[in-house]
Amino acid sequence: MRRRLAAGNWKMNGTGAALSEIESLALKHPSPSVDILICPPATLLHRAAVAAESTGIAIGGQDCHGESFGAHTGDVSAEMLTDTGATAVILGHSERRVDHGEQNEDVRAKARTAMDAGLKAIICVGESLEQRDAANTLDIIGGQLSGSIPDQSTGENLIVAYEPIWAIGTGKVPTLEEIGEVHDFIRARLERRFGEGVGRSVRLLYGGSVKPSNATEIFGVSNVDGALVGGASLKAEDFSGIIQALE
Ligand code: PGA
Repeated sequence: MRRRLAAGNWKMNGTGAALSEIESLALKHPSPSVDILICPPATLLHRAAVAAESTGIAIGGQDCHGESFGAHTGDVSAEMLTDTGATAVILGHSERRVDHGEQNEDVRAKARTAMDAGLKAIICVGESLEQRDAANTLDIIGGQLSGSIPDQSTGENLIVAYEPIWAIGTGKVPTLEEIGEVHDFIRARLERRFGEGVGRSVRLLYGGSVKPSNATEIFGVSNVDGALVGGASLKAEDFSGIIQALE
């Protein structure tokens, strides 16, 4: 059985005052029956990990470098994330693929160092609107999966998030059939590459304009094991509605 997961991606939002949202969330979900992960900006990671200590909430980063250490001004390594108390990291988010030109092989190198450091890697894949309109969605996702996911992946250290780029922060969501088609495709690809045991144990998240109002129907789609949530993860009240839909 895959344990369901609600992951919040705060992106470049939040200063110290935002830590109270983690405390509120912990009060609303004192012993959660699903996994809850908050990925705040790097500046808040350690304080967030302290705030979440002895709650059921885990803390994760939003990126790490593909190398373990060295002359990379401004970057953060996987081991440094672990050192803050983080247990997971989002990798290959489309905003990083676009803003920082990250390619599949970069994401794979990052995922390798993350897994080596003991982090769970949440690897993001997703098509643009042009790619969907040209009926290229599954080809694009297939290429991202084979290019970005390292060979050492297991059901424990890998989570895949399907995030159509056109659904992120737009209020637009694919149909439930479209979500199901891509999630079934990802599951089949993972089973083919890693075998049924591992392939079936990797959790698949949907991301892109998930809200309390649409979460229940999205979570009813086969092979959707949870969500990666941006905007609606910033306030404990909204995120709590999504967590409730998973419980
Ligand atoms: P959104 O972002 O929920 O604000 O659409 C999702 C994401 O980018 O992970």
